[in-house]
Amino acid sequence: MPSISFIARFALVCIVLAFSPIVECFPQKNAVFIILDGISADILEKQETPALDEIAKAGGYTRAWLGGIKGGYSESPTISAVGYNHVLTGTWANKHNVWDNDIAKPNYHYQNIFRIAKTANPQIKTAIFSTWLDNRTKLIGEGLEAAGNVKLDYAFDGFELDEEKFPHAKDKKFLFEIDEHVSKEAASYIAEYGPDLSWVYLEFTDAVGHQYGDSNQYFEAIKNADAQVGRIWQAIKKRQSQNNEEWMIVVTTDHGRDAETGKNHGGQSDRERTVWITTNVKSLNEQFKNNPASVDIMPSILRFMNIEIPFDIKREVDGVPFIGKVSVANLKASKNDNQIDLQWHVLNPEGEAEIFIATTNQFKDGKNDEYKSVGKVKVREGKFRFAAPASSAFYKLVLQAPHNMINTWIVPPPAK
Ligand SMILES: [Zn+2]
Repeated sequence: MPSISFIARFALVCIVLAFSPIVECFPQKNAVFIILDGISADILEKQETPALDEIAKAGGYTRAWLGGIKGGYSESPTISAVGYNHVLTGTWANKHNVWDNDIAKPNYHYQNIFRIAKTANPQIKTAIFSTWLDNRTKLIGEGLEAAGNVKLDYAFDGFELDEEKFPHAKDKKFLFEIDEHVSKEAASYIAEYGPDLSWVYLEFTDAVGHQYGDSNQYFEAIKNADAQVGRIWQAIKKRQSQNNEEWMIVVTTDHGRDAETGKNHGGQSDRERTVWITTNVKSLNEQFKNNPASVDIMPSILRFMNIEIPFDIKREVDGVPFIGKVSVANLKASKNDNQIDLQWHVLNPEGEAEIFIATTNQFKDGKNDEYKSVGKVKVREGKFRFAAPASSAFYKLVLQAPHNMINTWIVPPPAK
């Protein structure tokens, strides 16, 4: 029996559940996520952004964070491509291995949202609208064996390379022209074809930030980006009313900006680590209201689309869905005198959680780790202590709760 077999599309998406004769059908659901480059939350909140406000009114707006655990094993630079890959893979840079905009050696074993969606259901239609070509060819790794040979159904990107159509000038206004081009095409393509999963990336705001810092030019660029989002939002509303579809839009940014001038980013200051998420989805949960992170976007979108993340990948995802039911977040672990102490944030106290431990990280090489159960605990306890398995300085810990799973690492102390 196939674990997941695809039966029908359009009005309903049906799957045969693993090891069961039950067929479950869901309404077709579509998602678009938009990354607006380098917009700090404090500045965004002071601008007039009618499109983002309307989306937030339908669902919600929240500040969020990125950059991994500050000073810890998952600390990740607040740099653009690093930030996009948090969104795509639901993991921090210690896993996805993109540390800067060179994107030299992404670890594709931490699968991106397009690959997971396409693998779960090859009929899903995907699209990308972007200035940068690298977003498709390097981060998603389209057509690369190592990245699962994913092929996007529609790509409208790479315009930064087209200097004939968009001549480069110091003021970087050509990036605004490209964003116009990209957002108009995204809106018209979505209105006409309604792809299941799309990524829109708009860049100009960051270029203005680098050039002018926190300035009127930057405020203006944010308002323009809002209008570009508005185009896409209008297309979505049209599809929802005319095609009886249910859509999720998520708009976010890839990093904040430095506190001094706003011209820079890359460091670990609070302002650089602070981002924001807005979405039209109504079923926002405690995670959205408490302490969401950019890595939460990937599991949230897949949950909305009724796409199950494969178990071995889910165990590695650093994000928590911010829609639907969730149990736990923010797992912390420490080792003292051969005891391991776990602590977590309780989002929903019901039920029992099981704790698993592995002393290897073979997942990074595409292999499985041997996880052992070390016990069960009531979710509401919020903590658990157990004897550390001997002879290791490295541990991967997973807390499997009724509504979601979270993980953390214990790493050897740095060599002196
Ligand atoms: Zn950026």
